[in-house]
Amino acid sequence: DAAPVFARALNFGDKIAIVDQHGEHTYRDLFRQSLRLSQEICRVLGCSSRDLKEERISFLCPNDASYVVAQWASWMSGGIAVPLYKKHPMQQLEYVIQDSQSALVVAAEEYVGKIAPSAEKLGVPVLPLPKPGGDGPASQAAVEDVPLASCASWKDRGAMIIYTSGTTGRPKGVLSTHENVQAVTTGLVEKWEWKKEDVILHVLPLHHVHGVINKLLCPLWVGATCIMLPEFSAQMVWKKFLSSQAPRVNVFMAVPTIYAKLIEYYDKHFSQPQVQDFVRAFCRENIRLMVSGSAALPVPVLEKWKSITGHTLLERYGMTEIGMALSNPLHGARVPGSVGTPLPGVEVCIATETLRSGGRSYTVHARGDEDGTQVTPGFEGQEGELLVRGPSVFREYWNRPQETKDAFTPDGWFKTGDTAAYQDGVYWIKGRTSVDIIKNGGFKISALEVERQLLAHPHITGTCGGSVDGPGAVPGPGPEVQARGHPRARAPRLLPCLPIIRPSSG
Ligand code: ATP
Ligand code: MG
Repeated sequence: DAAPVFARALNFGDKIAIVDQHGEHTYRDLFRQSLRLSQEICRVLGCSSRDLKEERISFLCPNDASYVVAQWASWMSGGIAVPLYKKHPMQQLEYVIQDSQSALVVAAEEYVGKIAPSAEKLGVPVLPLPKPGGDGPASQAAVEDVPLASCASWKDRGAMIIYTSGTTGRPKGVLSTHENVQAVTTGLVEKWEWKKEDVILHVLPLHHVHGVINKLLCPLWVGATCIMLPEFSAQMVWKKFLSSQAPRVNVFMAVPTIYAKLIEYYDKHFSQPQVQDFVRAFCRENIRLMVSGSAALPVPVLEKWKSITGHTLLERYGMTEIGMALSNPLHGARVPGSVGTPLPGVEVCIATETLRSGGRSYTVHARGDEDGTQVTPGFEGQEGELLVRGPSVFREYWNRPQETKDAFTPDGWFKTGDTAAYQDGVYWIKGRTSVDIIKNGGFKISALEVERQLLAHPHITGTCGGSVDGPGAVPGPGPEVQARGHPRARAPRLLPCLPIIRPSSG
């Protein structure tokens, strides 16, 4: 019945779930602390977890075990988890608290001072969360009964509201149910063969699906270990990759910018051939999976990473509203520049929209799932909008019924707003339907393609600047492409003199 990940925690008992700057935390510790916090949440809100129906609980935590405790406690108390991001300016934090109509803000001790004035202004109580590590008074009976009994059915219940990045407008609160979250989690667990012996190194923000589901809920689902760094540092990541101390990292996932920054660090610090040989041999032997996503991975970054570590990055495609949809294979050939094929349980199609007097209609040209894709003759390699269907697709944009309605076709397909093509047995993301399209002489030019071509140029390193914080942060612009500040911002105005670019890859 789509019970959340915490319901599995007791099966893993003394296994180490999280390693952070405070030490090691077992599954049992996390469960008990979450239960204790959920009881506090109910106390502050003056109700029992049985009556708490989808109350939004915002929380501001560092990247450590306290995040898991706040998330699980929100769920145990019947609420919806709304993660806040420590680096967001106050205005953004207030926007999320207010837009989600949160009833409560849970804040780790170090952030109480930061968030309290805003919360007070908005009339929302703040519940301080002690540093992770202490054990709670929750009795065994409470541990076993309360949280699971409190929800008759998890399936359709709201689990979390994650805000989109705001690339195409104001960030929207995406409400996913427990079923949605679980569908994404189990799809990835199956496709990437997560197992309890795995150890992932976590360096991403925890207010986007990449950091929340792919890097945190997947390992917790199978009883694996997640090493959480307080934030990304190229030096620390290399140190962890190359450490033979247990628990030894064997899985890593990041956005393209992070790989670019790791390459930059490698070039600066690992110049001796013996060191390079060691790095390659060690990574090859100890790491089983390295994934890139949230933005297009420039092929030169993929190639350089392969030469350094021996790993071909596995690129996948997803978004807040659908979790993950397409992925290159764990075994078998990964096609550079492509995002592979549909994940288990995900149905996709490539369609074009037709405007008629009676309204809009969609014509489907390619349609696929895990078992394969069918394309109408002549459409292979052609672009259309990518549509997605399946249990991972979100329930609604919070408090935006019209936008929710507009986001789906009459047949219930979610319109991603991304353009894609299907060619050579795999899918290719081409850009956005709404932005990044430059019209020149009657032709449409995708800024994403221009960006790919620019980043493939030997004189554009693509490794300076750029943020590692955004979900889709990609290598920042070198001096030659300074006009482009954001990965999906409009391309520089010098474009009219460029040829129309359509890579042969599709
Ligand atoms: P908003 O919806 O507020 O405009 P956003 O769409 O950027 O912002 P997210 O949901 O965080 O917010 O990002 C999802 C987007 O990231 C996808 O729609 C897609 O454009 C991009 N993306 C994710 N993975 C890839 C990938 N592998 N290649 C290219 N683009 C990707
Ligand atoms: Mg979007």
